[in-house]
Amino acid sequence: MNYGAVEAGGTKFVVAVGNEKGEILARETFPTVQPAETIAKIFTFFDRYPVRAIGIASFGPVELDPASPNYGKITTTPKPGWSDCALLTPVRERYQIPVGFDTDVNGAALGELRFGAAQGLSSCLYLTVGTGIGGGMVIDGTPVHGMLHPEMGHIKVRRHSQDVFPGCCPFHKDCLEGLACGSAMEKRWGRNGADIPADSIAWEIEAFYLAQAIVNYILILSPEKIILGGGVMKQRQLFPKIRQMVMHELNGYLHKPQLLSLIDSYIVPPALRDNAGICGAVALAMDEEKKY
Ligand code: ZN
Repeated sequence: MNYGAVEAGGTKFVVAVGNEKGEILARETFPTVQPAETIAKIFTFFDRYPVRAIGIASFGPVELDPASPNYGKITTTPKPGWSDCALLTPVRERYQIPVGFDTDVNGAALGELRFGAAQGLSSCLYLTVGTGIGGGMVIDGTPVHGMLHPEMGHIKVRRHSQDVFPGCCPFHKDCLEGLACGSAMEKRWGRNGADIPADSIAWEIEAFYLAQAIVNYILILSPEKIILGGGVMKQRQLFPKIRQMVMHELNGYLHKPQLLSLIDSYIVPPALRDNAGICGAVALAMDEEKKY
C-alpha cells in the first residue's frame, strides 16, 4: 500500500498518493476555502485511495509539539477562519493510521533531501520566496523544530541604498519578507515580478536581500545544500546574482568549494520543481510510520 500526502497551502491544497521512491501516483488540487469544506475534500480523496500513512505539510504558523494540546493545529494565521484550526486530528481520527505533520517548508526541505537536490546529504535548507518567505531546515535527516519552528522569512536584513520601499510585513515592516517577498516586489514596483524585465535593478535589489539572508543561514546553520523555490525564484536570472552576492558577502571567510568553485551546485532550484512540498509530505508519512 502507498503513502498519502497533503500539502496545505494558504491558496490551494494538494492531496496525493505516492510510493516510497517519492513518485506521485495520483493527485488532486483544490482551492483553500473554509476549513470544514477543505477537510471534507481531503476525506473524499483518501476514502477513494486508501493509504498506510499520511503526511501533512502545512502553511503556518503551526504547533509541532506532540505534547501540546494544540499539536497539529494551524495557530495564528491571518487567513480568515483558519486560526486554531486542527488539521492532524481529524485526519488521524478518520483513518486510524500514522499521520505525520510539519510545516510546508520543512516538508519541502525533507522532500528535496530524500528525493531531490539534496539526496545523499544529511542536511539542507529550503527557502520559498513567494507571496511570503519561509524556510525549512533538515539536519541529520530530521526537520528542525525546536521551541516552535524556524521562521526564516522574518529576519532583519540591511537595506539596499537605492530602496525606499518601507516594507510590507504586518508585524515587522522591513524584515526579509517585508522587503523581498512577491507582494513586496509588486507593491514596490507597481507590477507583478513576472512582468519586470530581467535586466531591471529590481532583481539586483531582490538578490541583495536574499543573498544576505542566505549568508546568515549559512553562518548559523551550515546547510550542505540550499534550495530556493517559490514563485519569485522562477525568475532564473536571480540565481547567478544571488550566488555572486553570497560569495561577495562571505568574502572568502569560509574555505569550502561549495562556496567558491562549486557554488552553482550549492545554491540551486528545487530538483522536484513544484513537487517538493507534496513529495516532502510523502516522506513525512514514511517517517511517521517508522515511529509505530
Ligand atoms: Zn516580518
